[in-house]
Amino acid sequence: MHEYSVMNQLVSALLDELEGRELDAIKEVRIEVGELTFLGEEQMKFAYETLSRDTILEGSELNIDSIPSKIRCEECGYEGSVNYSDGGYAHYNIPVINCPECDSKPEIVKGKETKIVGVTAVEE
Ligand SMILES: [Zn+2]
Repeated sequence: MHEYSVMNQLVSALLDELEGRELDAIKEVRIEVGELTFLGEEQMKFAYETLSRDTILEGSELNIDSIPSKIRCEECGYEGSVNYSDGGYAHYNIPVINCPECDSKPEIVKGKETKIVGVTAVEE
């Protein structure tokens, strides 16, 4: 389960970050997940719930913002969204990403990141 290992890294980074701060509880954690990570939102939420158990994050809500992808093609100069040559989301294999203009292999500018963008603590 890929989502689990990604969330595992994310939750340990968060716990490191929150360590030593005098917070009672966390209300909400917001993350950005690129379209091209192909991580399932439900699976991520489930993994988060499991991983946050018995930590300061227990009971907090995970909000996931999906970040659209962007590619740049060196061959023809195309910049924009991705064209999935095998139907994309319908498949759970990692699709082949090609330039929609010239079909060569583009550079991925955006869409593969997973990052924490905000943490809201419970107010007293
Ligand atoms: Zn191109």
